[in-house]
Amino acid sequence: MIWIASGGCDGCTMSVLGAASPAIEDLLSGDLTDIPNIELVHPVMSLESGTRYLASLEAAARGEGDGFLLVVEGSLFDRRRAGEGSFSGLGERHGQPIPAEEWVSRLAPRAQAVIAIGTCATSGGIPAAQVM
Ligand code: SF4
Repeated sequence: MIWIASGGCDGCTMSVLGAASPAIEDLLSGDLTDIPNIELVHPVMSLESGTRYLASLEAAARGEGDGFLLVVEGSLFDRRRAGEGSFSGLGERHGQPIPAEEWVSRLAPRAQAVIAIGTCATSGGIPAAQVM
């Protein structure tokens, strides 16, 4: 399972961490019957970081591996509104952040299923609110 976090508060991640039935550690341990073993690639919870974490994303985007579910947390930004800056990024390329929406664009066509979790991912949420 590849989890991409974009524009949000990470509260969806916190909700999953607080789930009790089943608990995330039970899902990841592979101890539950009738549920396949899950490897989680997550920007905060992955054991790997830096280039090794990004290598997992790159491999999945190339279609390598056994297939994956893609979970998107947070809203995906319109990068045209970033001006010379940037919004939510995961990793760097040539010294510039790689936008989260680029990862979603590359990974979604390869995923067996895509899950938008929370109102930020499904309808924009707070980042899409109008400024009064
Ligand atoms: S939907 Fe958005 S605001 Fe709500 S918990 Fe998830 S990331 Fe945070």
